[in-house]
Amino acid sequence: MSPTSTPPVASESSSAQPAPTRAFEKLSPVTGESQGTFTITDEAGVDAAVRRARAAFPAWRDLGLQGRIEVLNRLQPVLLEHCESFARRISEDTGKPLQESIITELLAIWLYHDYNRKHAARVLGRRKVKTPIVFAGKQSYIEYFPRGVVGVISPWNYPLQLAVAPMLAALIGGNTVVLKPSEVTPLTGLLAEELFKRVGLPEGVVEVVHGDGSTGAALTRSDIDMVFFTGSVATGRKVMAAAAERPIPCELELGGKDAFIVCADANLERAARAAVWGGLVNCGQTCISVERIFVVDSVHDRFVQLVREVVESLRQGGPEEFADVGPMIFARQLSTVERHIADAKERGAEILTGGARLERPGHFFPPTLLSGVTPDMAIYREETFGPVLPVIRVTDENEAIRLANEHQYGLNGSVWTRDIQKGLRLASRLECGQASVNDVINTTGHPGLPFGGVKSSGIGRYHGEDGLRAFMHTKGIMVDRGLLSNEPTWFPYGEAKLSSVVSLAKGVIGGSLPRTIGAFIKLLRGSGSDAKRS
Ligand code: NAD
Repeated sequence: MSPTSTPPVASESSSAQPAPTRAFEKLSPVTGESQGTFTITDEAGVDAAVRRARAAFPAWRDLGLQGRIEVLNRLQPVLLEHCESFARRISEDTGKPLQESIITELLAIWLYHDYNRKHAARVLGRRKVKTPIVFAGKQSYIEYFPRGVVGVISPWNYPLQLAVAPMLAALIGGNTVVLKPSEVTPLTGLLAEELFKRVGLPEGVVEVVHGDGSTGAALTRSDIDMVFFTGSVATGRKVMAAAAERPIPCELELGGKDAFIVCADANLERAARAAVWGGLVNCGQTCISVERIFVVDSVHDRFVQLVREVVESLRQGGPEEFADVGPMIFARQLSTVERHIADAKERGAEILTGGARLERPGHFFPPTLLSGVTPDMAIYREETFGPVLPVIRVTDENEAIRLANEHQYGLNGSVWTRDIQKGLRLASRLECGQASVNDVINTTGHPGLPFGGVKSSGIGRYHGEDGLRAFMHTKGIMVDRGLLSNEPTWFPYGEAKLSSVVSLAKGVIGGSLPRTIGAFIKLLRGSGSDAKRS
């Protein structure tokens, strides 16, 4: 932490010091025991952090791309040295299996940086573009420059990856960043701060303001130049409204209700294992979780039986138990899961396995398989964000695509078929930001693929080329050698010039090169005498 911002942690041992104005307690999702008390950064603390980030911006920008890459490359030794210990800390905070902390949090951020450092020069460098014939003799370029101070607000489900991935893309482009991590996972918020400290960024290039929604709201009101938000639709609306006040650009990465479409010719065993992993990885708390499983009638019963067998073979427990499925991270999310299951049951769905909270400390809800789910149920309409697999029977894949698309969300989706061309055709028809054929979730780990949603799932893209450019202003530049004292289409106007201009316009619109060139030469010849007249 920088000296002027609010210290993030006031543990039990610091109780002799004056009590912080506002604080919250964090409980372990595995044991339910307290993991400490954390202070909330107030508006003044947020503004001070933004001022430090603004002061650091010019030098970081002027370091140049290669200089910034050299600094950010220090991520590699830090991750190599601390891979296991960082994973343990993330798992302690979230309860997720250690394997998931390593792959989906630590390996993921390295893949994003590795992509960025290899492609940023090409993606963000100045590039020449064609100049239309009406601007003959000139040269045109597109270039990018950083926005300034970027505010990043992150959620609790992948608390390191979803904070650090947008930060890395913003930083490599020359922006400085103020991060507001989720209050649900404050231990990982501290880890994100420590990670950048260990990388050794210049003072102020990364600032972290710990706290709750009030801290996030203060960040959206502060003197930032862009806000990058990942979280719920409800909060996303508030963030966008605050961004509109300034106005500043705002990228929103929001919720999902991803469709998983099983065709009659699918490899059913692979599809069943994929549905279980895609729906239950991170205990179902993934924005691109499998949340609606559409199965074609002819293979429905066999598929459901296979899914049930895989689900019932899973072990659930904390990270120290090396289980497949951990607890839910956020206690409040459990009540959404319970509400959705109760509503589905009442409206006729069948619970094939799981269905009720486990009798043990912490936030454990068992993997739950539901069949007979229909569009009138809350579990179909709303994001569940828990370890639940809802199966919907459809007559064919066309019905599945129609239902998949008739929804407020459009984040990700997958299609399961042995016919790859059919799979691609169906994937193209899905209204969402990413889609897979015979695979699930992994699109987000591919650092070169754009990530983001349509409809209520969000606005904007990150990862890949779009992700690098998301944090930049785009500038168009045109260059003339400056030899003519006047341009043919500048003042003065006149009757003769008008006739040449008409000829030029018609030549261009009609696609006639000789007419265009002829009119252009006439204009060039006329421009000298026009210039004399002026
Ligand atoms: P949330 O909206 O409750 O909180 C997200 C962040 O916003 C937190 O840091 C929170 O403190 C902050 N915040 C709260 N109120 C704020 C305000 N008024 N102004 C500014 N910031 C404020 O979301 P969550 O529960 O942490 O995350 C779960 C949601 O995130 C799910 O809907 C999930 O689908 C979505 N999500 C989306 C993606 C994606 O990439 N599309 C990824 C992960 C999670």
